Amino acid sequence: MPADLHIHSTFSDGTNSPEEIIKLAKLAGLTTIALTDHDTIGGIESAAAFGEKNGIRVIPGIEFTTEAKGSEIHILGYLFDIKNKKLLEILSKIQKDRVDRIYKMVEKLNRLGVDLKAEDVFKFVRKGSAGRPHVARALVRSGAVSSVKEAFDRYIDFRGPAYVSHYKLEPAEAVQLINEASGIAVYAHPAVSNRDEMIGNLVPAGLKGLEVFYPGYTPEQVMKYKNIADKNGLLLTGGTDFHGENSGREVKLGNVTIPDEMADKLYEHIRRN
Ligand code: AMP
Ligand code: FE
Ligand code: FE
Ligand code: ZN
Repeated sequence: MPADLHIHSTFSDGTNSPEEIIKLAKLAGLTTIALTDHDTIGGIESAAAFGEKNGIRVIPGIEFTTEAKGSEIHILGYLFDIKNKKLLEILSKIQKDRVDRIYKMVEKLNRLGVDLKAEDVFKFVRKGSAGRPHVARALVRSGAVSSVKEAFDRYIDFRGPAYVSHYKLEPAEAVQLINEASGIAVYAHPAVSNRDEMIGNLVPAGLKGLEVFYPGYTPEQVMKYKNIADKNGLLLTGGTDFHGENSGREVKLGNVTIPDEMADKLYEHIRRN
């Protein structure tokens, strides 16, 4: 039975609500999903409730955006205590800063001659994390660019002229925080981050898994990351990194799956520790 452990909802930059995701997951024949919104756990309870009604196992998850020496590293967390006080404090600090950052990005865009208001961006933000994809969608709506891709390429890429950073943890801090909340920390999409040396370095901080299955990975890449995982005693995970229908991404639920048994191993790990 197939599982997808990397999914975003309207609680961050996805375009489908947790309820819609459960429906789509069911249509795709998935039996386990993890909701992994960026820097928020806001959608987990409703995803779990809809999942239960529809016979889909929902693993509580999150994806932390972290930064290390000029690269963005994403750290996934699974099966942590969603009431952990330190976790909640840090998440609310990130949320606030993500909102402030939208104003700063809009200012930069205005200085670059783009007519856009922060309110235009917030129209695209639902309940949780505000982010660059919302800026991109507002830029498309305003007519300043013709696609989300163009918005990133011209303005808001990591090295783009309207990019603004936000309060972030370092990778090891995110890994430690997930461990403190009794969860499992997983290094996300290694080929996207392209900083493979970080993987082994994070093991002493408590890294427990590597996202080996991901859209677009070649069989050689999967093999390479399986070897790195083996060498470091890491669990294997994978998923689509689904951002919803009409999100500007091609991938659909069901396109990348892992066997349910791999998801079971996360639960076994929690039980044993
Ligand atoms: P943020 O966390 O607000 O900095 O936004 C990062 C998110 O933007 C990522 O999780 C992706 O969903 C999206 N993203 C980043 N780079 C691109 C790109 N070049 N094209 C489309 N979406 C992107
Ligand atoms: Fe995203
Ligand atoms: Fe990511
Ligand atoms: Zn993601």
